[in-house]
Amino acid sequence: MPHPLHRNLHDLTTRTFDLLVIGGGIYGLTVAADAAQRGLSVALVECADFGSGTSFNHLRTIHGGLRYLQTLDLPRARESVRERRALARIAPWAVQPLPFVLPLYRSLTKGKTAMRCGFALDRLVAHDRNDGVPATHALPGGRVLGRAAAQTAYPDLRALDITGAAVWYDYVTVEADRLTLAWALAAAAHGAVMANYAEATSLRLDGRRISGATVVDQIDGREHHLTAHTVVNATGGGIDRLLKPLGAAVALPLLQAVNLVTTRPGPAAAIGGRSLSGRNLFLVPWRGRALFGTWESPSICTPGDLTIAPAHLDAFIAELNQAFPAWHLTRDDVALVHRGTVPAKLRDGQPPTLDGGERVYDHQNAGLTGLVSVAGTKYTTARAVAERIVNRLFDWLERPRVACATATTPLPHVPLDGDALLRHAATAEMVCTLADAVIRRTTLGALGCPDAPALDAAAVVVGDALGWDAERRRKEIAGVRSLY
Ligand SMILES: Cc1cc2nc3c(=O)[nH]c(=O)nc-3n(C[C@H](O)[C@H](O)[C@H](O)COP(=O)(O)OP(=O)(O)OC[C@H]3O[C@@H](n4cnc5c(N)ncnc54)[C@H](O)[C@@H]3O)c2cc1C
Repeated sequence: MPHPLHRNLHDLTTRTFDLLVIGGGIYGLTVAADAAQRGLSVALVECADFGSGTSFNHLRTIHGGLRYLQTLDLPRARESVRERRALARIAPWAVQPLPFVLPLYRSLTKGKTAMRCGFALDRLVAHDRNDGVPATHALPGGRVLGRAAAQTAYPDLRALDITGAAVWYDYVTVEADRLTLAWALAAAAHGAVMANYAEATSLRLDGRRISGATVVDQIDGREHHLTAHTVVNATGGGIDRLLKPLGAAVALPLLQAVNLVTTRPGPAAAIGGRSLSGRNLFLVPWRGRALFGTWESPSICTPGDLTIAPAHLDAFIAELNQAFPAWHLTRDDVALVHRGTVPAKLRDGQPPTLDGGERVYDHQNAGLTGLVSVAGTKYTTARAVAERIVNRLFDWLERPRVACATATTPLPHVPLDGDALLRHAATAEMVCTLADAVIRRTTLGALGCPDAPALDAAAVVVGDALGWDAERRRKEIAGVRSLY
């Protein structure tokens, strides 16, 4: 079994760490795991549960960057290929190959000939995509099908006036939240000291050098002072909250991004579609259900604002029905709305669009040393971004660099399911609420709110392990329901 996660905020205050990571999403956790594996002493605080922010809400696709070939962005395409391969090597239990099908129409730049050229280039860029990958996870090369073959193989395309379809393979994360948590388990195995439900409320300074953070335990309300030589601010959409008081805000524009988990059965392949406004959308089969995404808000949103306006939800469903006309989706089909914020690109006179690359801010230009902030745009490439950040930390700490090994070290895996996994999570994976257990440590609540008997049974298993009384169990069940 992997190294257990135990929550003890006192442990975080007893020494000066080489690194304090603030934020336990995929970006913070990969930094913590990498730094700890390379021998740095690491602390991490997360104000809610690990992986409960944007990292919970992604579309579960691990993509090899085919889209970057359109703009001939070969470095980014290569990075995506490498990171997709790394995940298949280090966590084959978490990902599965999935065909992606894009309907093609008569077009010079997006038609059959253009896609054939794209796949030819992809064969070169992704020539080593299967090196070291288990045979079960080997990805075939992409191909272009004619209209008849495409419509025979993929019934979703029958209603469309297509010329053919492009078919390629990427991975889908079948164990999306266990994959995120696996990075926390890996960090702990290498000695990182971590706490969820611990919010960094301010950064601490020694002159203009960062010396740690003040952290408030969200469970008992106590304040703690953590000291560290370096800090990585990996707070996702909340990036500026800690930076503003230091005059180092980066004013990162953000868009809301939304997926819909529906109650409808998913098809055998992921299908692409285009709405009338030209938005590219995907229907992804996930755990037997159809998941639709990703829709970005038409305008910049306020950091932390995750309320989806009813008008936005209706607009998204309307666009899905344009892109997937055979589905006739309505609000009644929606079991869960995934939402998060993603960095946006602003261009004069144009609506904001999703930013393609991560932003890593070294705050030395604001006169602050020892602090780096990261705002990632892809779950897929978080590990590579973490590797670059940790390289930089070694330089700041004036230590000889130790080579990164996270691309080849298997991530911890817990081979349990059902009640056994719930019980293990409650005792060894820092579960603080029933929602942590049913939504992120297991997939009980991944497709929508579990029914009453399932929730009651989960509250018994987790409640018995954590010593909850009847009143606490009732509150925890209500807490899970309120999330949906
Ligand atoms: C709808 C949607 C679909 C997507 N689909 C895909 C996809 O299919 N494939 C892909 O590769 N990428 C996808 N992405 C992008 C990907 O999900 C994100 O790039 C990634 O999850 C961002 O991770 P993060 O760690 O930066 O942010 P988060 O996961 O938000 O982590 C930040 C964490 O910091 C914590 N925090 C904030 N403030 C504090 C504080 N003061 N103290 C302590 N903790 C704090 C938060 O609680 C949060 O847990 C998608 C994104 C969205 C929104």
